Amino acid sequence: MKKLLEINNLVKHFPVVGGVFSRPIGWVRAVDDISFHIFEGETFGLVGESGSGKTTAGKTIIKLIEPTKGQIIFNGIDITKFGENKIRPLRREMQIIFQDPYGSLNPRMPIGEIIKEPLMVHNIGDKKEQEERVVEIMKLVGLRPEYLRRYPHEFSGGQRQRIGIARAVVLNPKFIVADEPVSALDASIQAQVLNLLLELQQKLALTYLLVAHNLAVVRHVSDRIGVMYLGKLVEVAETKELFKNPLHPYTQALLSAIPIPDPEIKKERILLQGDIPSPINPPSGCRFRTRCRYAKDICKESEPPLVDVGSGHYVACHFVKEGKVVEYSK
Ligand code: ADP
Ligand code: MG
Repeated sequence: MKKLLEINNLVKHFPVVGGVFSRPIGWVRAVDDISFHIFEGETFGLVGESGSGKTTAGKTIIKLIEPTKGQIIFNGIDITKFGENKIRPLRREMQIIFQDPYGSLNPRMPIGEIIKEPLMVHNIGDKKEQEERVVEIMKLVGLRPEYLRRYPHEFSGGQRQRIGIARAVVLNPKFIVADEPVSALDASIQAQVLNLLLELQQKLALTYLLVAHNLAVVRHVSDRIGVMYLGKLVEVAETKELFKNPLHPYTQALLSAIPIPDPEIKKERILLQGDIPSPINPPSGCRFRTRCRYAKDICKESEPPLVDVGSGHYVACHFVKEGKVVEYSK
């Protein structure tokens, strides 16, 4: 399988400024050395609590924000150091869909114009061709073309997300970062929008990075899943494998929070103690240790690397060896 994206040791730190001179007095370590890849045509789900660095990772990968360190290889090209001029033609191929479609759609623009805008920015086609393309895309995402003169506020939340999706696919991109695309929608609408994303993936040969704070959302649409905690990737595996054999205590806790419909199956709910620590001053060693029920001295002293425990299952925990959790003594 071809890797469309390769992320090596990606770091994004934001300065914390303070004092009268607005000097950096610290750093928010939003993304702190993560490595993974995304195969062409797959959906890679990225999950973790709010504040774990998912949005920062998604935006840095497509260079909407500049990485602090590390390497981003897109379609075989190292784009890490690309400036605005060199990245511009690639912007066509990398798009983003936001959580809040209302906030990201210009309320004073008819939706036909919103969807057409990327074509104008990239100078694609003449006026007539652009209009035809808008109609074609509206049909594709399930919006009635006769509504193209209406404004965003005239649509429901689900339809607005379709407008956001239309704008993201109008340039025929290869790769889309979908950042919590259904988090603001009712459960019944969530499934419709996720199904639309899957349908478009088939029709348009798209590759997705699907960001969500909820594992249940990514489960049915992701081929593989990465779990983030406080700027780090703690586990990566194929979706089936992750649900069958979660190895990181954080993943186990996230999974235990998903309700199972079968009342016969009893499972233990693992409660995470306390809040996620601040990424300005993360815990030493393993960042999860302050909330981990298995934490030992070693977890404070050294940071566990993300290691392959077999068949593409990666985990960063001192207590996982050869795909098994060992040495846990409660
Ligand atoms: P998530 O999407 O997982 O909720 P984010 O990537 O939005 O996480 O944020 C990760 C951390 O980085 C948070 O602590 C957030 O406050 C911080 N952060 C995000 N963007 C900025 C920014 N532009 N400046 C400073 N801190 C930021
Ligand atoms: Mg986010």
